[in-house]
Amino acid sequence: MSHSSQGLTRYEQRLAKPLPVLWRPLRDLLVAFLLSALLASCGGTAGTPSAALPTAKAKPTHSAKPAKTPSTKPKPAKTAAPTNASGGGSVTLAFVDVGQGDGIVIKAGSWAGLIDGGSAGNDTAIAGELSALGISRLDTLVVTHPHEDHIGDLASIVQRYRPRVAYSDATASTACYRNLMSALHSVGAKISHAYRGQRLHFGALVAQVLSPDTYMASDLNADSIVLLLRIDGREVLLTGDLSGPNEAAVGSICARGPPLYLLKVAHHGSAYSTGDSFLSETRPQYAVISVGPNSYGHPSPATLARLHAHGVRTYSTQRDGTITVTFSASGAVSWHFTRSAKPVQASGGSSGGDATTSTGGDPIVYITATGECYHRAGCRYLSKSKIAIHLSKAKAEGYRPCSVCKPPT
Ligand SMILES: [Zn+2]
Ligand SMILES: [Zn+2]
Repeated sequence: MSHSSQGLTRYEQRLAKPLPVLWRPLRDLLVAFLLSALLASCGGTAGTPSAALPTAKAKPTHSAKPAKTPSTKPKPAKTAAPTNASGGGSVTLAFVDVGQGDGIVIKAGSWAGLIDGGSAGNDTAIAGELSALGISRLDTLVVTHPHEDHIGDLASIVQRYRPRVAYSDATASTACYRNLMSALHSVGAKISHAYRGQRLHFGALVAQVLSPDTYMASDLNADSIVLLLRIDGREVLLTGDLSGPNEAAVGSICARGPPLYLLKVAHHGSAYSTGDSFLSETRPQYAVISVGPNSYGHPSPATLARLHAHGVRTYSTQRDGTITVTFSASGAVSWHFTRSAKPVQASGGSSGGDATTSTGGDPIVYITATGECYHRAGCRYLSKSKIAIHLSKAKAEGYRPCSVCKPPT
């Protein structure tokens, strides 16, 4: 979903207001300090202690409104947890096929988190993945930004899986955002902001927040919360719908670290994200595009061509279904696809590295109580009452593939 900025950004508006004279040098010093600390912290190799990274600001709670002024002094991070350890257990990332949108489940040992939840009508797909991974309660929910294709059904997920903490920066005036916020309040979730420089503890994993900066622009996509996970020495970047100057900032931070193992491609493969320089700086080995039928032209052929030119092996939820990547304690990584193991774009000459792929065989499709067809999760012909069913069962019961969303046959 696009969201154009109009007039001055919030940052510009803030700058336009005269600050007390004493605050200006303080503000500039703080910005310079944070940037240098971040760049220094990302230049290390696996095993670099994290204690050198300051938290960006005092963490506001229970409000989704960004703070208007920078905090006083950056504080050193309280913990020195290694960023390259998964605590000895396996870590699973599932990019759920939510049609056009994002929904990513993370399981690290007994810890469970969700990054976004797809558009309306996808709570069944998310819930199906959570139960498949044995998750009955969420520890953390991250709302990268409040666009409908990321939060459409999160209210019902929140009611059912009662996250303890939710990270959400930007606000929106939409009904789905209001529903999400009241659901979070009703289950007693602590609502916090996530800013560049913070470290979020995902069980034994540490997620480094690379964006947005303390000063946010007025473009919801550009201000997506961006997380860098380091799982046993492999870097995974989750970008939301990142674009523009914030993408450039994330790229320059990643350029100082090791190549990415996996990039969640920003904004469903939009032409206006994932630029050439960003790919040169992040150097991903694999990419996942979370996308479904849409009228925006996602994923853009130009973005696919750039990924191909950079030798990135790329998968998409539209083509491959739900994509599950499991990092086992032994260091092996396995990939699983519910629909297909075929890459969207194979990198030239690459054997696929250490990824192993397999097909799910019998993917989940969706039917309705009265319809005669079965559908993909995001199909517009699915009513609210959609019912998840295995493909083999749907076919055995005489359901036909929908001609609009073209589910597997
Ligand atoms: Zn989106
Ligand atoms: Zn968006």
